[in-house]
Formats: sequence, C-alpha cells, structure tokens
Amino acid sequence: MGIKVLIIEDEEKILSLMEDFLQTEGYNIVTAKDGKTAVSRFEEHKPDIVILDWMLPQMNGLDVCRYFRQIGEPGIIMVTAKTEETDKIVGLEMGADDYLTKPFSLRELSARIRSLLRRMNRSDSGVQSNVLPGAI
Ligand code: CA
Repeated sequence: MGIKVLIIEDEEKILSLMEDFLQTEGYNIVTAKDGKTAVSRFEEHKPDIVILDWMLPQMNGLDVCRYFRQIGEPGIIMVTAKTEETDKIVGLEMGADDYLTKPFSLRELSARIRSLLRRMNRSDSGVQSNVLPGAI
C-alpha cells in the first residue's frame, strides 16, 4: 500500500525529475503525458494525489481536472507556467486543491503534497522528506 501519485506532464524531462524524486520519498508513481492517457490511468489506478500540468496535448488540464472531480476525490495540485492571477483562480474554481507555478523546486512540490495529504486526513507514514531537493 502507500500513497499513489499520478503525475501528468507532457515535458519528459520535468516528468522524470518529479517521478524520480517522489519515488525516493516513498510514493507509488503513475505517469501520463497527455490528457486522454491521464484519464485512463486515473480510472485504472485510482490515485490519491494528482499532479496536473495545465498545458497538455489532447485535453487541457482544466478539462482533466473537472473530469477527475466528477469521477473521484483525489487531491489535485495544478502545475502551470502561467502566472496570471486569473489563471490561478480559474484553476482553483475548477476543483484544484493547490497550485504550483513553474519554475518550482522539488522540495516545494513535496511540501505541497504532504500538506494536501494532511488536509485530506491521509497518513503519510512511510513517506520521507528528501534531503536533496532539485529545481525544475
Ligand atoms: Ca505542459
């Protein structure tokens, strides 16, 4: 068992950085590089936490987020390169629980996940804080 995290990101380098880092922290990782794959992975794996990139091929992050909210109750952290306040507000209104703007550090990502798990009353035992954060 353990906490399952679905990472949805079309930029391969960023995806693998996040995947490697969160794996070392003890999470079970599932990945997707586009919206449609993300939906099928979600249905198959029922992740606890979703890290969702805003700009995706096929379905954008907002549509994916809205869909996840209809079919499950994951904690959703939206990731975007956009910095406008309005985008942040739209993301939160569409059901994201938290929001990260690129560039962000892996340590910040990790802290957001733990804080979200606490709010969801999920145990994060078995998950360790990584002492070597890298930047994305
Ligand atoms: Ca992207």
